[in-house]
Amino acid sequence: MDLTGKTAVVTGGTSGIGLGIAQGLGAAGAKVVVNGFGTAEQIADALASIGPDASHADADLRDADAIAAMFKDIGAVDILVNNAGIQHVDRVEDFPPEKWEAVIAVNLSAAFYTSAAVLPAMQKSGWGRIINIASAHGLVASKEKAAYVAAKHGIIGLTKVTALENAEADITCNAICPGWVLTPLVQAQIDARAATNGQTNDAATRDLLSEKQPSLRFTTPQDIAGAVAFLLSPAAGNMTGTTLTLDGGWTAQ
Ligand code: NAD
Repeated sequence: MDLTGKTAVVTGGTSGIGLGIAQGLGAAGAKVVVNGFGTAEQIADALASIGPDASHADADLRDADAIAAMFKDIGAVDILVNNAGIQHVDRVEDFPPEKWEAVIAVNLSAAFYTSAAVLPAMQKSGWGRIINIASAHGLVASKEKAAYVAAKHGIIGLTKVTALENAEADITCNAICPGWVLTPLVQAQIDARAATNGQTNDAATRDLLSEKQPSLRFTTPQDIAGAVAFLLSPAAGNMTGTTLTLDGGWTAQ
């Protein structure tokens, strides 16, 4: 994959899956802008691991004006990866409204605002790739994840509409649906499970995987970066509006 001359933006690129994707894009020669939170040291380490052309944009994706300002600064974008995401776990009747709003804002609305910001330049140049990191939870549900499941189902809908509206141009929009990937977002759920059930980290990890992911193995950020590379390759040039699952069999059940 040679992405020399292409500008890529990865939201949530300072950690976990987004960082793995950004490293893949950087290794292929893209100019990569990562958006996301982190300490100065974490961000410096992330940028060093992505490559010499990497930079950081610190917009809070809950803020539509901040997203618009970030893309005004960046200019034309060839590759957009909407990856930032947060989780909150509670039953519907107990779900704090502010948590609902935050999960929908980061996991769904932000992808609408970022896509709207990059599409005009993609349409002008006649080439663009938008990749939305959804989840197995974009295809099936789990209890106590109302906002996350709604947002992930929603981003698959947004993926389809964006694909259809740009189908005649060489602009594709697809979603990747990972199963469990061991990142800070999932480690927090393992920690909560271990605390609630009085389990060790290993026992809570084994239970988490065996409930949903038949492979009993985590998908890795590098696996997701590989799927991104495929979606950017000529072989996927006529693939748009669809989902690619990397879930160890989760949604086959
Ligand atoms: P992570 O917690 O490691 O990273 C999340 C990233 O989003 C971080 O860079 C963080 O700074 C950024 N972020 C959060 N809120 C933000 C905001 N308001 N503004 C800007 N940036 C913000 O999580 P991860 O596991 O790497 O998840 C990445 C994506 O993959 C998410 O969309 C998640 O839903 C999805 N996903 C994860 C898994 C998994 O098992 N880890 C499975 C399926 C899908």
